[in-house]
Amino acid sequence: MELYNLKHPSQKVTFTQAVKLGLGRDRGLFFPTLIPVLDNMDELLAMPFVERSKQILGAWLAQELGQEMVDKLVDNAFNFELPLVKADDNRYCLELFHGPTLAFKDFGARFMAQCLNSLATEDKITILTATSGDTGAAVADAFYGLDNIEVVVLYPKGKISLLQEKMFTTLGDNIHTVAVASDFDACQDLVKAAFEDSDIRDGLHLNSANSINISRLLAQICYHFEAVAQFKRVHNSDPVIAVPSGNFGNLTAGLFAKAMGLPVKRFVAATNSNDTVPRYLTLGDWAPQATVATMSNAMDVSEPSNWPRVEAIVEAMGWSLSDISGVALSETDTEAALSQLYQGGYLSEPHAAIAAQALSMTMKPSEQGIFLGTAHPAKFKEVVEACLSIEVGLPPALETVKDKPILSVNLPADFTALKAHLFATLSR
Ligand SMILES: *Cc1c(COP(=O)(O)O)cnc(C)c1O
Repeated sequence: MELYNLKHPSQKVTFTQAVKLGLGRDRGLFFPTLIPVLDNMDELLAMPFVERSKQILGAWLAQELGQEMVDKLVDNAFNFELPLVKADDNRYCLELFHGPTLAFKDFGARFMAQCLNSLATEDKITILTATSGDTGAAVADAFYGLDNIEVVVLYPKGKISLLQEKMFTTLGDNIHTVAVASDFDACQDLVKAAFEDSDIRDGLHLNSANSINISRLLAQICYHFEAVAQFKRVHNSDPVIAVPSGNFGNLTAGLFAKAMGLPVKRFVAATNSNDTVPRYLTLGDWAPQATVATMSNAMDVSEPSNWPRVEAIVEAMGWSLSDISGVALSETDTEAALSQLYQGGYLSEPHAAIAAQALSMTMKPSEQGIFLGTAHPAKFKEVVEACLSIEVGLPPALETVKDKPILSVNLPADFTALKAHLFATLSR
């Protein structure tokens, strides 16, 4: 697979290089030179998820990695259910939250972890990342127990929920967690400083495993196929798919799927009041505003990092941006959407509820739609309980970590202290 840097098209890399580098020169995103098209769609849609995913990812990667390697990566990464659940007469939810950390990020993070573990040829590599909550859990869990990789996660002490903290600080083994006595920005600054320090970068073979890694997007293509496959078992028509969006990786993956030949009527980009994209789609002006905090906090992004890839797909395919609908919901509308789903018999959470409502606002009466369920309702327990006046039980994944001890080391927001800690813990 050949990819090029969207900022410097002359920089070309293989998939293996793109996975390891994350970003290209000047922080440019890697984008495939060629999007493979699958011509056996009916046959593909009839296959079980894992088998189909091997074919989809094989179309991108088999030439470079060999189909056997692709099969192994998929088998190790995709080992949980993703049911399409009927929410009401014309809307379905593809539930992507039955993985180990109860969020759709498990798909991308687990596949990326398998890729790095299998493709990195150096000695051990060290993943260093900062989290304000969810990403830390998905990354830590995805890399837990892998031989060639040590993971260090920094997070702001006391600034994330206890349950969130328990999900990634109780694992041990190759997962090292550091509670920093400051805020998220300070954690990010420490990570940045570590990447700029050549002793750490070279001595510990640092890698960021960040969310714009191309391996994550390829993995996410597979569940868009699964959404349509399950839908087509009940309907003859093609679905509209609504994507709750923050950094727009999820939508990018959907557009790649469509470009590969997946029959999707159109996509709806749904956001909270961080509405840079919906405003851009209706007014044509790219005008990010200051990020505001909302109850769908995983979508609190005003400068979505994957957007250049969305534009690149649209251009490569000769599509128009106007084929994508944009919808932004206020906090009040989000609560109303969540209540409406619940009254119809479907328990959801704020992110998915926004996408569900975006479907209702943009579908014609004859159309059917799928909204992507990106997180388990229990992950947003407080908001869901307050909005619906109900109690939300904890699923087994959260129940088992609840009473485990936190293994984090406490550090001040001080680079020298972090550097000493990294070498003391990870030197070998
Ligand atoms: C990350 C996240 C999103 C946004 O996904 P993007 O790919 O960044 O657009 C939506 N919902 C939840 C629950 C998330 O964790």
